Amino acid sequence: MNIESRLAQIGSISEPVTGAVSFPVYQSTAFRHPKLGQSTGFDYSRTKNPTRSVLEEAIAELESGDAGFACSSGMAALQTIFALFSQGDHLIVSLDLYGGTYRLLEQIMSRFGVSATYVDTNDLAALEQAYRESTRAVLIETPTNPLMMVTDIEAVATWAKGKGVLTIVDNTLLTPYLQRPIELGADIIIHSATKYLGGHNDVLAGLIVTKGRELSEKMFFLHNSIGAVLGPQDSWLLMRGMKTLALRMQRHEANATAIAKWLQTHPMVAEVFYPALESHPGYEIQNKQSSGNTGIFSFKMKDARAIETILRHIRLIAFAESLGGVESLMTYPAVQTHADIPLEIREKIGVDDRLLRYSVGIEHVDDLMTDLARAFDAAASELAGGVKA
Ligand SMILES: *Cc1c(COP(=O)(O)O)cnc(C)c1O
Repeated sequence: MNIESRLAQIGSISEPVTGAVSFPVYQSTAFRHPKLGQSTGFDYSRTKNPTRSVLEEAIAELESGDAGFACSSGMAALQTIFALFSQGDHLIVSLDLYGGTYRLLEQIMSRFGVSATYVDTNDLAALEQAYRESTRAVLIETPTNPLMMVTDIEAVATWAKGKGVLTIVDNTLLTPYLQRPIELGADIIIHSATKYLGGHNDVLAGLIVTKGRELSEKMFFLHNSIGAVLGPQDSWLLMRGMKTLALRMQRHEANATAIAKWLQTHPMVAEVFYPALESHPGYEIQNKQSSGNTGIFSFKMKDARAIETILRHIRLIAFAESLGGVESLMTYPAVQTHADIPLEIREKIGVDDRLLRYSVGIEHVDDLMTDLARAFDAAASELAGGVKA
């Protein structure tokens, strides 16, 4: 079956008692045992909950993996994955990384003796140089947030297999609708399902997918032992969001492509970072390994002073952190999402004070352009010494 059909039908044929088309929320932590030594398959909801199980089976199947695990946030999912590693272990990680992941590695995992080296994961020579005897995994985001750098997943996974280390892919920005890293050789997928999978800026969740029996069993143990699991209500909300993922991603991509092309021609914009644009260095790899583009991109203004005015004048587009929801949001990474990354690293990768990130929603594209155009005009007039609006 095509992925659109599988998405729309998540949980719809799993409830055998009443035939409920929408899978019920099993708001129960404990499950009665039929008799000594027997279980319905459910004992205690940290270990397994029927509503969460439907979600976990769905994401495993969508990502072509063997097992899925639903966590209370994307960060909880990452922490659960990092619990695979021990004191002295080393990771190789994408240089342009989600700020929270960087913070978890540098301020928490480092205290437990797990270290990380940040490299351009598209550069196999850099991977080779960063590799140590103690390296256990490569963690990549592709495209990265906010600079949209694209990494060749298959090339990294092949390299990692040769070294006997795991390939972990943060697939938040593309979702299995557009990119399936396990099919390209990855071992573990992590999602901030708070973003496109949930899709409505209303549920915080993380998902893990593993490939292979041994790894899946280890992750099951960690997920249950750590306990940062997703509750049944949020599992249900997430599944409801996922049913419309295909439609939403199509509109996100169409809107983002139209607006990115328009911004490329705008006299106040220095550069637009979006892999759907032929001018983007990752354009070809993106086309090779995914069936489309995400709905977020970033752009650099020629003059940083315009940013404050733009953020004050956008109305339909909300000035807010996060991404991936039906509502358009604009973020200023240098002071928000990426503030925990040291200035020297931010400047090295280009997350400077001229950069804005735009998570394009599913509103009408004309309304979004009108909103942006008005904010740009206000900024142009303030820069030209006009009256403050
Ligand atoms: C948001 C995000 C995370 C963290 O997920 P939360 O659900 O906010 O905990 C991790 N990786 C990426 C790429 C993200 O965008």
